Amino acid sequence: MSKQHDRLQRIAVKDNVLQIAGRPANQLVAMAGGTPCYIYDRNALTERVQSLRSVMPSDLKLHYAIKANPLPAVVYHMAGLVDGLDVASQREMVVAIGSGIDPETISFAGPAKRVEELRAAVAANIVINVESSLELERLYQLSSELQIKPRIALRVNPDFELKSSGMKMAGGPKQFGIDAELMPDVLSGLDTEKVDFYGFHIFSGSQNLKPDALIEAHAKTFELATRLCELAPAPVRHINIGGGLGIPYFPGEQMLDVVPVAEHLQKLMDARTGRFKNAEIVMELGRYLVGEAGYYLCQITDKKVSRGQTFLMTDGGLHHNLSNSGNFGQVIRKNYPVLIANRVTSEEKETVEIVGPLCTPLDIVGAKLELPVAEVGDLVVVFQSGAYGATASPQQFLSHPEVKEMLV
Ligand SMILES: *Cc1c(COP(=O)(O)O)cnc(C)c1O
Repeated sequence: MSKQHDRLQRIAVKDNVLQIAGRPANQLVAMAGGTPCYIYDRNALTERVQSLRSVMPSDLKLHYAIKANPLPAVVYHMAGLVDGLDVASQREMVVAIGSGIDPETISFAGPAKRVEELRAAVAANIVINVESSLELERLYQLSSELQIKPRIALRVNPDFELKSSGMKMAGGPKQFGIDAELMPDVLSGLDTEKVDFYGFHIFSGSQNLKPDALIEAHAKTFELATRLCELAPAPVRHINIGGGLGIPYFPGEQMLDVVPVAEHLQKLMDARTGRFKNAEIVMELGRYLVGEAGYYLCQITDKKVSRGQTFLMTDGGLHHNLSNSGNFGQVIRKNYPVLIANRVTSEEKETVEIVGPLCTPLDIVGAKLELPVAEVGDLVVVFQSGAYGATASPQQFLSHPEVKEMLV
């Protein structure tokens, strides 16, 4: 398998059929109701959380950011494994509450929260990560209106960024959070009669595979947190240091080595002083927890050769798995790991373009892939598809059937 991905060295195969969660891929597809579908492996989710916990400081709190995969079955399973859930909208909040987790461990981040969303969050007693001064004013009003003291943390737009990140979400002018340099004023004006102050949320970036970059961001995050804690008007109960741990998607990318990141974090946590010392440290992760546990499967519906290029046409594509198509934040499109699930290896290979049913050349499932010679009816599987899949894709575009999802 030339130029494919190291993920493909860690798969189970029986009778040349990919096994997912100990079962043949085609059997799971039948269970899910056919293609196109996402299959999520429950044990893989559990193992991922356990292996991360085994290296991270024992008192580090792990949260799951459910926008990565908000399927209720996934969220409920994750709720039993992590210390809290992070939501980004009122509807996500309702799913998180449905898991039965303690509302105090649910936090709500997001720029441009609507007043109705803030009201719902106050009523639910979850922690709201406040992202502007006006949002704080609105919470003061809701505090009087509902006679509930909103639980709040202040989201800080740090004066640094997580270097070499898949997505830049901090440093410089940003729509997220309140600029670090404005925090002294915001903190001195904070009315703790009206809101219950929990702490700070400092999120500096996402999808990072470089331990050194994460270590540097953590050092700067702790530095900033130290300064902020001294200015806080009330004891600081928690500091959310963001996440940023990435997973390998493309050829040549390696799994992130979390050990040096964890060791450094332990040192930072041990070295804390003053008001920072007793605050809980929270890490919030999305794709790192769920991304590798998900598989997107579609079926080959047609095969043709156009001017020397072989095309495998499938019933799934960009409308279900936008990230894999390369249209969700990628500059240059690269392939996710892809296989023919019912024909994993073969002596006979060919180079193919795998495309979906949409009337746009952007609908690519895999480009220039060398794969076993496939036939109509075969199953294409896309790995690393557990995060930012079904709900991060334009499913209505061209009105094809909705993707099926199943946790096994
Ligand atoms: C999206 C998001 C996350 C999760 O990001 P991943 O890259 O999936 O780990 C965590 N925190 C916040 C504030 C987010 O917006």
